[in-house]
Amino acid sequence: MKITEHIKQAKETLFSFEIIPPKKGNSIQDLYDNIDPLMEFNPPFIDVTTSREEYVYIEKDGLFDRKITRMRPGTLGICAAIKHKYNLDTVPHVLCGGFTKEETEYLLVDCHYLGIHNIMALRGDAMKHQKIFEPTPGGHAYAHDLVKQVMDLNRGKYLHQVVEGSEPYDFCVGVAGYPEKHYESPSMNSDLKRLKQKVDAGADYVVTQMFFDNAKYFEFVDKAREIGINVPIIPGLKPIAVERHLQLLPQIFKIDLPEDLVAGVEKCQSNKDIRTLGIEWCIAQSKELIQAGVPLIHYYSMGKSSNIMEIGKELF
Ligand code: FAD
Repeated sequence: MKITEHIKQAKETLFSFEIIPPKKGNSIQDLYDNIDPLMEFNPPFIDVTTSREEYVYIEKDGLFDRKITRMRPGTLGICAAIKHKYNLDTVPHVLCGGFTKEETEYLLVDCHYLGIHNIMALRGDAMKHQKIFEPTPGGHAYAHDLVKQVMDLNRGKYLHQVVEGSEPYDFCVGVAGYPEKHYESPSMNSDLKRLKQKVDAGADYVVTQMFFDNAKYFEFVDKAREIGINVPIIPGLKPIAVERHLQLLPQIFKIDLPEDLVAGVEKCQSNKDIRTLGIEWCIAQSKELIQAGVPLIHYYSMGKSSNIMEIGKELF
């Protein structure tokens, strides 16, 4: 079922979450062990992220050979495995970075055959050695171009027009939104216009970057509505779990942490206390969002379920 249909049918706020594929060489069982406890909150779908490829240097006879690899492959396989095992919808994250348009087309064909009809269309970040995102030769530069490719398939239009009169696909497409603006964007308004471009290209819903201050989400939604973005805007939340998050989250996701939260973490005596504080903060955020009538809250589990489990128990 489409994510937008799940949302339309919901009588109360729904629970969903995102997982990351295991590192190459690890078993999928660990992922299942983390998904199992969250099933009691009836997630209508689970998102599975895709990682960018990266360079590794292999020493051979005193020389280093540069190879390209993806440390966490398997997004689509995991989506199919979860869909089959738990009988629920899965949403693979489809990136511009690292894929040619042709490879994207084949990925979408595979999704269609597997009965996966929802995707998140994302540009992806720069590779580790790059300062800024560089489009893959033959790939898309921005997420809205990827959305357009999916919409073309929804009209039965393949690349290079090699197939005519084909059965149209029916993908429901999510895109990313940034309540604190995307870090490359010169201003909030400019970023919102880019978001509108993605929606105008055919995106059906938006999932936000994590935020720790609900006021930023509410303001973002108001501004989006003002410029005619009328699709569901799903809030994405993550509980702080360790002290290092105070530096890591702003650095990786280019977000601010509220003073009260930072002060609270700094007062904690142990990581156990920080974890508890993170859960309480996330519960308080979720309660306010539920009261405001958001259709669904999407939790960034990063593959670990125990703190999301405690949040879910309080709310869903
Ligand atoms: P875009 O919408 O293409 O925007 C990128 C930047 O370009 C923005 O600053 C935008 O304002 C600007 N822009 C857009 N169009 C134009 C234009 N025509 N001209 C000039 N500027 C323009 N990353 C991963 O690698 N894997 C994942 O699985 C993943 N999942 C995510 C899930 C969510 C919910 C979110 C919020 C992010 C996720 N990301 C993931 C991170 C995402 O890939 C990065 O934030 C990336 O830097 C931007 O992706 P985007 O799709 O928002 O890009």
